[in-house]
Amino acid sequence: MTIQEWRSATRQLRKLFPVSIPVNIRRFHSKRDFPAVTRFDGKVCLVRINSTQTDSEQVSSLLHEWAHIVVLDMFWSHGEIWGTTYAKIWDSWKVVDVT
Ligand SMILES: [Zn+2]
Repeated sequence: MTIQEWRSATRQLRKLFPVSIPVNIRRFHSKRDFPAVTRFDGKVCLVRINSTQTDSEQVSSLLHEWAHIVVLDMFWSHGEIWGTTYAKIWDSWKVVDVT
């Protein structure tokens, strides 16, 4: 995935599912086996997506983390509210053209 495609994806995600807190999204390269890291310091959410994943895995990780931020689930659990939101984001995402 090119930088332009990635930026287009994050821009469209922010437009489709606006959130009330500032979110800083970056990709990073790590050979360690984890897809993403998201932290909230009380003011800003920091989302880091591992770029060693395939393009579709990176997008999947991004949508997963975004669902946490949309529901302001700072405990990072995967309960019913988070699951419903994640499903809604995926449903909307099917029609997004990120190129
Ligand atoms: Zn999660």
